[in-house]
Amino acid sequence: MNPFSGIVARMALRATLGAALLLVATPARAQQTETEEMARRAKVLSQLPHNAAKRIFGTAPGPAPLAARAIGSFARGCLAGATALPVDGETWQVMRLSRNRMWGHPQLIALVERLARRAPKEAGWPGLLVGDISQPRGGPMLTGHASHQIGLDADLWLTPMPARRLSREERETMSATNIVRPDWMDVDPAAYTPAHLALIRLAAREKAVARIFVNPAIKVALCRDAGTDRAWLSKVRPMWGHNYHFHIRIACPAGDASCVDQPLPADEDGCGVELQDWLKKQYAAMNRPKPPPGTQGKPKPPPKPWTLDDLPDECRAIAVAK
Ligand SMILES: [Zn+2]
Repeated sequence: MNPFSGIVARMALRATLGAALLLVATPARAQQTETEEMARRAKVLSQLPHNAAKRIFGTAPGPAPLAARAIGSFARGCLAGATALPVDGETWQVMRLSRNRMWGHPQLIALVERLARRAPKEAGWPGLLVGDISQPRGGPMLTGHASHQIGLDADLWLTPMPARRLSREERETMSATNIVRPDWMDVDPAAYTPAHLALIRLAAREKAVARIFVNPAIKVALCRDAGTDRAWLSKVRPMWGHNYHFHIRIACPAGDASCVDQPLPADEDGCGVELQDWLKKQYAAMNRPKPPPGTQGKPKPPPKPWTLDDLPDECRAIAVAK
């Protein structure tokens, strides 16, 4: 996911009302152009204290030149020794280059490259358009994404790679494809193809991949079309947004003692009650009537921005490493 602030994202995950905000905000995210994104960043920077973790990590131009290490948890941590996914490969192209979020743990970068190489032959998917991975030193971002902080998360567009190199300009302005139906209950048959399933299945079958996030409506289609081999579906979890891109997350690399893994998802396909609950929750959030003007009350003040004190101790050294 994914250009509302991490703070907004966290609030949204806590409150159903917030969830509706997140949901509305998310589709716009992958769609932000360079101009819009830069304006949002400037506004956020103008309001943040000098010691805000978002400022420190959101403006770091390059990686911490140390051994590669994911530190902390997916939504509270940082990254040492990041490598950048090359902006062009034979079967991938990085989008939104101006964001400088093509950095990740070397094991994630290797995985994205491998998946990109396998996709044409094994999934009938011509190549990957790669969205946000992490900042050069990971950490919280000025815009978007509660997670993506430790270099183990990557967003992959649900738009197949075109057969030509996109210009820098196109990579900033081109829109990803929304494959979810307007009622948010199923995929849009005009946009969803068997290759979408094949690509997500290929990613889920990669051993290193721990979780994949897709909109609940996409999971409906995957559950329907998966056939009899359904083991891979357990890794594919419903999540707000994720209708323009899907999100892959790898487990903590072996030996990264400061990396905090999530528990593995339940060992069933997740096509039953959990999915139905997500669809209901999403439908309610999308259809909640707006309160009449003047009755909303005062908006809550935003939570205090994180400083380095709010991140794992080791992130102090990552922030300043030269
Ligand atoms: Zn994401």
